[in-house]
Amino acid sequence: MKIAMIGTGYVGLVSGVCFSDFGHEVVCVDNNPAKVEMLERGEVPIYEPGLDTLMAKNVEAGRLTFTGDLAAAIDGADAVFIAVGTPTRRGDGHADLTYVMAAAEQIAKAAKHHVVIVTKSTVPVGTNRQVRETVSAANPDLDFDVASNPEFLREGAAIDDFMKPDRVVVGVETDRAAKVMEEIYRPLYLRDFPIVTTDLESAEMIKYAANAFLATKITFINEIASLCEKVGADVKEVSKGMGLDGRIGKTFLHAGPGYGGSCFPKDTKALARIGQDHASPMQIVESVIKVNEEVKRRMVDKLLDLCGGSFNGKTVAVLGVTFKPNTDDMRDAPSLTIVPALVGGGAKVRVTDPQGKREGEALLPGVEWHDDPYAATSEADLLVLLTEWNEFRALDLSRIAGSMRGKRMADLRNVYTLEDAKAAGFTEYDSIGRVGTG
Ligand code: NAD
Repeated sequence: MKIAMIGTGYVGLVSGVCFSDFGHEVVCVDNNPAKVEMLERGEVPIYEPGLDTLMAKNVEAGRLTFTGDLAAAIDGADAVFIAVGTPTRRGDGHADLTYVMAAAEQIAKAAKHHVVIVTKSTVPVGTNRQVRETVSAANPDLDFDVASNPEFLREGAAIDDFMKPDRVVVGVETDRAAKVMEEIYRPLYLRDFPIVTTDLESAEMIKYAANAFLATKITFINEIASLCEKVGADVKEVSKGMGLDGRIGKTFLHAGPGYGGSCFPKDTKALARIGQDHASPMQIVESVIKVNEEVKRRMVDKLLDLCGGSFNGKTVAVLGVTFKPNTDDMRDAPSLTIVPALVGGGAKVRVTDPQGKREGEALLPGVEWHDDPYAATSEADLLVLLTEWNEFRALDLSRIAGSMRGKRMADLRNVYTLEDAKAAGFTEYDSIGRVGTG
């Protein structure tokens, strides 16, 4: 199959590279010339483990190329995937479909033969039909099909998620489109990965429902964590005891500083908006959005308590700013709420993150960047563990406590225990959903 992939972000680039590894001929297109130049030089514009090696392998094999020229990319393509951003539209919570519709129109104007136009971006129910109407209006003579193929990969584990998915969801209206999609995903069919073939609307809804459910699960345990702190229970024990129930499952039950990232915040907001638009309010999802904001604010209160009621004049070391480990993605990260609150309150903030500096420098003004956690915590009054990178899971806590001015730790990912902290010389330790010292 010959595939054109529009958009070389986290989803487009990973999908393009993996499809080429399946043996397809893939051209990845981006309208950001700087990105295309980097890719042509063999550089990966994002941090995603393993992506550089797999990309180089497939470029070398002649199956994967990059261009800024959309028309050239779709010439001869059996399918063209739209994998552009769908951020929250300013003001109303809707998914902003500007980029998707612009790509659809560009495809319509450039296509000269039958093609399946596949939307991989996360889009509200009805968007694929809208894509079809847009393409028909822009090029009434074009013979084409549309398909919905939402993506479920997780940043940080994207290649494995793409190559060994829990399922692939394909929404189609015609046998012709179904056959092309089947051919594209043949390696996964052959290895018996579940492929859910359904209608366009159901495919679109599956993606929002899945993300909203996961955000709900995280928020549920975060709220339980808050209650645990009040009643003296340990949320880690509670999660374990709950998660062993096969009906519940143990994933997404780790209490933390609130969900963030490029998907959950915008997708929950978009689903809530879709519900309002159809007079079918998503009341649970609306509560999840509200509670998640409260969770992030509660983190700031925790830090304030550890600083004796004021950040003014304090030196705070923040370990990890990306929304989760193994990515450089800072979109809607809890650090974007917590760090400005520290800086705004008069703290001197020292930050370290294995991959977050490139994105984070512009987003977190007024902080000092350090190369490692030992440099960041030296002479600090408070250590805040905000993202659970492996690099922060086995710290020499005694060395850190010994070099700090105030021996206080806020472990917002429950990586350590009160006992670990005490043994290392910390005098105050607080975490999530567990009783700390004060
Ligand atoms: P991104 O912002 O990282 O990348 C989008 C890319 O598209 C950018 O490089 C941009 O320059 C390019 N682009 C925009 N318009 C274009 C056009 N007309 N022609 C060529 N290139 C164009 O976005 P992302 O994180 O990869 O997300 C893409 C979609 O996938 C979103 O809808 C998102 O919700 C969904 N998704 C994301 C993830 C994730 O983990 N990031 C997971 C599943 C689904």
